[in-house]
Formats: sequence, C-alpha cells, structure tokens
Amino acid sequence: CGIVGYVGSQQALGIVIEGLRRMEYRGYDSAGIAVVDRSGADARLAGAKKAGKLANLEKELDVRPLPASTTGLGHTRWATHGGPTDANAHPHFSESAGVYTDLTGKVAVIHNGIIENFARLKAELAAENVTFLSETDTEVVAHLLARDFAEAGDGDLGAAMRRVVNRLQGAFTLVAVHADAPDVVVGARRNSPLVIGVGQGEAFLASDVSAFIAHTREAIEMGQDQVAEIFRDGSVRITTFDGQVVEGKRFHVSWDASA
Ligand code: GLU
Repeated sequence: CGIVGYVGSQQALGIVIEGLRRMEYRGYDSAGIAVVDRSGADARLAGAKKAGKLANLEKELDVRPLPASTTGLGHTRWATHGGPTDANAHPHFSESAGVYTDLTGKVAVIHNGIIENFARLKAELAAENVTFLSETDTEVVAHLLARDFAEAGDGDLGAAMRRVVNRLQGAFTLVAVHADAPDVVVGARRNSPLVIGVGQGEAFLASDVSAFIAHTREAIEMGQDQVAEIFRDGSVRITTFDGQVVEGKRFHVSWDASA
C-alpha cells in the first residue's frame, strides 16, 4: 500500500522507515524493508519483513540489525493474494535461505496492486525449478527480474524491468533493487501512483510525496506505463515500457505536510 525507495549517500534504513510511517494513514497489514549490503566481497541483500504494525518490523530490526546501506526500499502491504503473514510480506526476494539477514537472492521487489497473470508465470517458473516462498502474486516478479537480469548480463536493471513489465497483466506499481546494481533503484508504474523525489545527490521513489518531503520538495510525477531509474548521484531516467526516454512532469511540493 505504501512504497518507498532510496538511493544516495545517507543511510537508507531510517529514511525508508520514516517514509513508511508517513504513509501509515493509508492502512496496511504488514511491513518490510531490504537494503543492498556492500560490506562483503560480494554485494548482497539484507532485509526484514513482519506481519502487523511497523513497530513489529522495528522490533525485528532491533534484534537483527541490518548492515549499513545507502540503497534500499520498503513497503507496507494490504494483502490481496496470500494472508497477512511474515512470508507474504514484501519485499519478495529472488531466493532466500529463509533467514532474511542471510539472503542468497539478488533481487528484492515491492508491489502495490494485483498481477492478474501471476498463476501462469508461477507455473512457468516452477517448471524451471524456482522455489516459491510466499503465496503472493508479487513473488513471480522477483524471480523474473533475477532471471532476466542474469540472462542479459549487461548490468542494466532498468532494461530488465522493462522486459519484465511487458509480461505482466493487471495493475502494478513495482520498485526493485539488485545486489549487483547497487547504485540504482528502479520503479515501474501501471495504475497506482508512483512519484520521484529529486534531492541533492540522492533520489526517492514513493507512492506519495509525504514519504520524502522531509528531504526534498522537488518531485517528478510518473505517467502510466513508465519505468524510472533513480541513481546514487540524484539523477533520474524515465522511459516508457517500450524504452523511449520521456521527460517527466516536474513539480514543486509547496504545501506543508511536515506536521
Ligand atoms: N497483491 C500484492 C499482495 O497481496 C500487493 C498488495 C498491496 O498492494 O499491498 O501481496
């Protein structure tokens, strides 16, 4: 129900949690977060997700803290496919040991909406021995993205997202990170809103400007069927699902929502 993505030079965790809190009014049944961990030899993901209030997630993060990271995303879920459990909470990962601080998966994805053709995609992936860890319609996207990114081998997460969304039916706002592309967060929009926040040397993706106005009031509205790539230096690239570069509609958030 609420989506936040961050890339820049600040710690992502606090910014993402704060953004989720500012969107709590939308209602939700679970919450989760993932960050790109670059501390080891191989970049990997770390995350946590919990049914219930954000406070449950924060308790979990106290017990099992995430590594420091300047790239991350977070989600508050309103379940449509699969009950409100820890496993069904977002993010969904392309692979996992089941312990979310010890992930082997490279992709984390969060989603608002419904992917209508998920059952067919799930069957296709299951036939390729992909193991599913949740009952959601969302998880197929994590596996499709991981597979497509690996097959293309060009390190271009935006291009992988464009190929994947062209296979999806239904309404979706998606935001994803890949451990091997740690300087970008990618979002895709069909129907439910997604807004870009443009800061100084940092950028945001969120379902609502309230998630980032404490940091920047410069925003870009994404149109339907567009993919946004936000980069660590604060630059932004928007394309259609077909890959045509488009100029986003820039606006300044002038109202005071800081209360
Ligand atoms: N359909 C997805 C799920 O049930 C996303 C729900 C949402 O929009 O929060 O997990």
